[in-house]
Amino acid sequence: VLWLIQLLLPLVLLLWLLQWPAKHILLRVLQIAGTGMILFALHFAGLWMMPPWWTPWVFWVVFAIAFWRGCGFGGPARLGGLGYSLAIFWAGLGGLGGWVALEALRARMPPDGNIAILGLPLPEGRYYVANGGSHEIVNAHLRTRGRRTTGQLNYWGQSYGVDLISLDRVGFPADSIAPHNPSDYHIFGTPVLAPCAGRIVHTHDGVSDGVPVNMSDATSKVGNYALIRCGTFDILLAHFRKDSLQVGLGDLVYEGQVVGAVGTSGASDMPHLHIHAQHPGTANAPFSGEPVPMLIAGRYLVRGDRL
Ligand SMILES: [Zn+2]
Repeated sequence: VLWLIQLLLPLVLLLWLLQWPAKHILLRVLQIAGTGMILFALHFAGLWMMPPWWTPWVFWVVFAIAFWRGCGFGGPARLGGLGYSLAIFWAGLGGLGGWVALEALRARMPPDGNIAILGLPLPEGRYYVANGGSHEIVNAHLRTRGRRTTGQLNYWGQSYGVDLISLDRVGFPADSIAPHNPSDYHIFGTPVLAPCAGRIVHTHDGVSDGVPVNMSDATSKVGNYALIRCGTFDILLAHFRKDSLQVGLGDLVYEGQVVGAVGTSGASDMPHLHIHAQHPGTANAPFSGEPVPMLIAGRYLVRGDRL
């Protein structure tokens, strides 16, 4: 579905604008605005890993060509029945795209209140934010927002969580287009660093990478992990590679200390590092505490950011 929306939809709209631009001036304006708004929405809210982050820029180049080619036209002055339908279609598409783009931009503002100041939980490298920000449109972790189901309650702490992956020079997360093994991903095995000084208050290891988990369990979604208490906040680093945990319960860690390696254990589609800050949860549901937004290496990270 993601591929369909992110690739097929803009390609169809751009081809339409290039080959069959509307003749009527109002319709043409609506077509350009509708297409442009959808491109804005995909640019700011899309998950650009494969296809990579620069894909929207290719769309913008095609859009500019289509726009330029469409300048200077003479069409019929009257709008037919089909024309009205098309006008409504383009206006609707433009409204939808504009709303998504606006929400994605608003998601760049952290919520009011406390904020956890953290270091980068990974060594220097080329990283992409797959999830992050203050709106569900750019941060899947906010599906906990309703706090109605036990799943939402048990993982409420993840709400402002960030998921990080590695990119190569070209912008791809893995060596092949359709990776088969977790180790095909560039980030797999990268050391995970404590982003703050603190004490290990929860850990788990021994979960295999890329194996489906029991979603009803209060902790198994996170796979292998370390929960670090830094001052009044708990910081979760999750989905470690099996048997990579370097710290034990009660250990004191310094900022930058290696605590594990990136993997894809637990509820994880591909190797990535999950990090979130929260107030302490309960003994049975350690990730149920009140979520806290983070500044990581001085930035409030939102989907699409690169570092
Ligand atoms: Zn996550």
